[in-house]
Amino acid sequence: MDLKIYDTSRRQKMTFEPRVVGKVGLYVCGPTVYDRIHIGNARPIVVFDVFARLLRTLYGDVTYVRNITDIDDKINARAKERGIDIRDLTETTVARFREDCAELKCAPPDVEPRATETIPEMIAHIEKLIDNGHAYALDDGHVLFHVPSWRDYGKFANKDRDEQISGARVDVASYKRDPADFVLWKPSDAETPGWPSPWCEKGRPGWHIECSAMSEKYLGPDFDIHGGGIDLVFPHHQNEIAQSCCAHAEGARDDRFARYWMHNGYLMSEGEKMSKSLGNFYTVAELLEEFPGEALRLVILQAHYRQPLDFSKDKCREAKAALDRLYRLKQAALATGAQAVQDDAVHAALMDDMNTPLALAKLHELNDGVTSGEGAARFLGALDLLGIAVDDPEIWFKGGSDGPSAEEVESLIEARKAAKASKNFAEADRIRDDLKDRGVVLEDKPGGITEWRRA
Ligand SMILES: [Zn+2]
Repeated sequence: MDLKIYDTSRRQKMTFEPRVVGKVGLYVCGPTVYDRIHIGNARPIVVFDVFARLLRTLYGDVTYVRNITDIDDKINARAKERGIDIRDLTETTVARFREDCAELKCAPPDVEPRATETIPEMIAHIEKLIDNGHAYALDDGHVLFHVPSWRDYGKFANKDRDEQISGARVDVASYKRDPADFVLWKPSDAETPGWPSPWCEKGRPGWHIECSAMSEKYLGPDFDIHGGGIDLVFPHHQNEIAQSCCAHAEGARDDRFARYWMHNGYLMSEGEKMSKSLGNFYTVAELLEEFPGEALRLVILQAHYRQPLDFSKDKCREAKAALDRLYRLKQAALATGAQAVQDDAVHAALMDDMNTPLALAKLHELNDGVTSGEGAARFLGALDLLGIAVDDPEIWFKGGSDGPSAEEVESLIEARKAAKASKNFAEADRIRDDLKDRGVVLEDKPGGITEWRRA
């Protein structure tokens, strides 16, 4: 069976053919690390995690690269606002980003390059663009990509000349030869981080150049799949394409650089565009206080990745209940002793442009068969492929976010044991009944051991 993906550059569903048999390179734009990620940022992370899992079932050699943007004016501004060192801000944010990804059950990418560690490659890339007549350096240290120098500019994003200019950043500076030209390198002042370059003593890259440099460093000038959120199509991805195609007379694909482009759709929140003023802006961290990460993951996968997703807390609550059911089924499946095998129907749904809603429907059809060996094996395989209900069911039921924490339950069990030891049976019963009301059932076993589970 062929893998079909919708390619943004050709605007149609295509049969995917790797550049080299058995080998796939995937590059996805990662976070700018100045703040905790919000649920909209989580969408591409979850979507491309499932996609990478799918690719690994098909090809022996998959390289998934997701960058970290750790040099950016938003980072500089935030560090200044908080009165902290830029490096402290980026390091802390990277650590928290990784925690969020782990809670969302997303495996780390194979390579996670940072912009600040790819500066020499960016400088070399910009030099090639200048040599090829596609970029120009100014006396003040700016280097700009000259948009009219490339006839195919705008083709990928389907933007005509007027839209290219209105889409350009507001600061249409006087130093630009053309209003659509964009920054490749800019001078840094004393307070701003910078590196030496041929154009100024201290300067820093524009945003777009890092992805051209990093994708080439790890995947080569011509690679298989580039992904990201739909909001990145213009100008970011259009500019990456311009930079990469124009730096190479040969080697990069004619007008699109990566062979296939995949974009996930927008995320709405509680029926509206997510914004802090509407009170529907949720960071992953604050949602994790209310819901397990797998519930957020499941809500994201319930929508097809290219469709808009309307996120809501109600959907998280429903997803939590659905996961409780899946974990109960997993418990039954594991009890048969079965080993996970691939389920063809779930796999086929993902092969058709990552149809996760259909894959989840096919998973549901497996629910009745989990007590038979074969049904159990296929059910477990489907969970692995989707990356849902991946924990040990025991841990899920003990560590659920509803009701008392596992630590609290354990300490109440100790208190009950002490009450019993001092023959205060009324107190022991009160603790047991109280926990029962809060959804925790205690079972006394021989040898004075008390086991517990969530009802
Ligand atoms: Zn990028």
